[in-house]
Amino acid sequence: MNPMNTTLAPTLSVPTVTRPVRPARRVIWRYFSILLGFHLLLPIAFFDPFFTWWFPVYLLVGNAIFGSIGINLAYHRLLTHRSLEVPQWLEKTFVMFGICSLEGPPFKWVCTHRIHHQESDVEKDPHSPRENFLWGHMGWIYTDDPRMNSFMTYDKYIPDLLEESYLRWLHKRSRWAQLYLAHIVLLVLAAAGVGAIFNGAEGAIHGAAQMFAWGVVARTVYVWHITWFVNSASHRWGYQNYKTNDLSTNSWWVALLTNGEGWHNNHHAAPRAASHGHRWWEIDLTYSFVRLLEIVGLAKKVVPVIVPKHRLQETEPVVAA
Ligand SMILES: [Zn+2]
Ligand SMILES: [Zn+2]
Repeated sequence: MNPMNTTLAPTLSVPTVTRPVRPARRVIWRYFSILLGFHLLLPIAFFDPFFTWWFPVYLLVGNAIFGSIGINLAYHRLLTHRSLEVPQWLEKTFVMFGICSLEGPPFKWVCTHRIHHQESDVEKDPHSPRENFLWGHMGWIYTDDPRMNSFMTYDKYIPDLLEESYLRWLHKRSRWAQLYLAHIVLLVLAAAGVGAIFNGAEGAIHGAAQMFAWGVVARTVYVWHITWFVNSASHRWGYQNYKTNDLSTNSWWVALLTNGEGWHNNHHAAPRAASHGHRWWEIDLTYSFVRLLEIVGLAKKVVPVIVPKHRLQETEPVVAA
């Protein structure tokens, strides 16, 4: 954990940002239907043969693998901010976990997030909750942002990623979506197999049904919402350690749910830093995993926390790793 002065009471500064004026956008019905479909499927998880008291395990383990490693570590800290380096085979594996969270292809995710860092809570922010919470949380996902249909946007924001053949392969012909479907089949078949070993045909049916309901549908929706809380709640409620001239906040409950991403004001102050927790009590389990990778020799060039002076609160001492 990086050194911080803990004597200062956290304060929420009011940034001098312009209220975003967002033009009305066309609904992308394909995306809207997918989001709606997953949410409508949720109730089946509470009925036989789909229900299991093991559901917290499905959600927590699923989030750890597909949310924390796939989205937090691979999509966000590796691809977007290059906060560390891992061997190519491991990066590809982690990116594949991110694909299994159904948050879109890495190109689009990273491009959107880099724009967010550049234009936080102003007009061009892809998902500021300043206008309304629902927009920042999920409204932006199923509406068309014309910038995302332009090669120039990708050239400008993700030139480094465009050179990676693996990511181009995933993007082409929506292979990322096909892989998401393939992972459902794999998980369900594996669970059916385990169920069959322990309880024959009935075990196979229960294993497959429970994996589909909790390991896929509920877990996907759960990881969606906790990821979206970073964009919505962590730009609305909480405290700020730093003057970032945006509405980013540190939210303990978002950090708890997302294994570290909720320390979002820290992240806006030092976007490349691998650790999002800057005070001793700002636990960031995703960073703990990075430290583990570093200890076993699988992560290097882990970017330390160094906050530029102009982002420190007036009474805050200089923070450096
Ligand atoms: Zn943000
Ligand atoms: Zn970021």
